[in-house]
Amino acid sequence: MNRPLPNKVELGFLPTPVSELSKLSAILGGPKILMKRDDLTGLGMGGNKTRKLEFILQDALEKGCDTIVTAGASQSNHCRQTAAAAAQLQLECHLVLGGEAPNVANGNLLLDQLFGAHIHWAGQHRKGEDIPQITDKLIALGKRPYIVPYGGSNELGAYSFAHALKELDTQIDTESLTHIVFASSSGGTHAGFMLGKALLKKRVKVIGINIDKGETDAIPFDKFIVNLANKTREYLNVNINPFTDNDLMLISDYIGEGYGVIGAAEKEAISLTAKSEGILLDPVYTGRAMAGLIDMIRTGKLTRNDNVLFWHTGGAPSLFAYAESLS
Ligand SMILES: *Cc1c(COP(=O)(O)O)cnc(C)c1O
Repeated sequence: MNRPLPNKVELGFLPTPVSELSKLSAILGGPKILMKRDDLTGLGMGGNKTRKLEFILQDALEKGCDTIVTAGASQSNHCRQTAAAAAQLQLECHLVLGGEAPNVANGNLLLDQLFGAHIHWAGQHRKGEDIPQITDKLIALGKRPYIVPYGGSNELGAYSFAHALKELDTQIDTESLTHIVFASSSGGTHAGFMLGKALLKKRVKVIGINIDKGETDAIPFDKFIVNLANKTREYLNVNINPFTDNDLMLISDYIGEGYGVIGAAEKEAISLTAKSEGILLDPVYTGRAMAGLIDMIRTGKLTRNDNVLFWHTGGAPSLFAYAESLS
């Protein structure tokens, strides 16, 4: 390994706790279920993007940038955590959000505003298509913008989840885990887990539940994740085999009506977890991933012999913005 590992700026409260969901497990008659509480990373109401931003914004600081630009859906958890991090580091923050300005801001959007982010509405473009023109304007104004990619899913973002797996390894006996299940959407978390698993030589199956059809992506999502894992491997210059499609476990059976459309399965998963454990999931990501986990237990794909960890990636602030679909 001849490249030094990336540095990070501290933004979250780490390590996040691990709890056992014994009541949910008993209700389902299923495996032991542990939960890694990345909803409690602490930055601006928490979530998985905090880990990515620690490495990405360190890079922005090292490059002397003073303005952060990123993109997402109007209820993006990534944008909310970026806005909070930028406030903490006293950087200007520009968010390019899909959709139109609502009459009343709620959920993550309300928080974006409280953190002082500048919002640019981009209509159909929720994946940052408008970033280049906005960045050009910022440069013309004399700013030094730094672009955080969609979902924070570049090499540094992915590396943060290899790092997170190492954190988990100090907390529990990861050898006894059979599966890690989580919501996968822009691919950084997933690529990072693949990398971490290879670096730590773990047997655990790393299963992403695909939550987004990703129809607008230039390359298919499964290829994107494997590419990112390989790019990160090259970036870190670590001595592990290149990843192939066979290393990827991505389940796309639970996308339902598409991104952010809440169905009966998500509603059930959110309410079951809330009532049995007093833990809040979110409607777009973790609610869907938990619905997938519940279905895999009910259909016998996961049994009492398994030992599963659900990685809670955050998102609960958007519950309020989806009140009409959830109540
Ligand atoms: C962004 C996000 C994910 C997905 O993580 P990716 O690294 O983008 O795949 C999952 N859950 C929540 C709550 C998120 O905000």
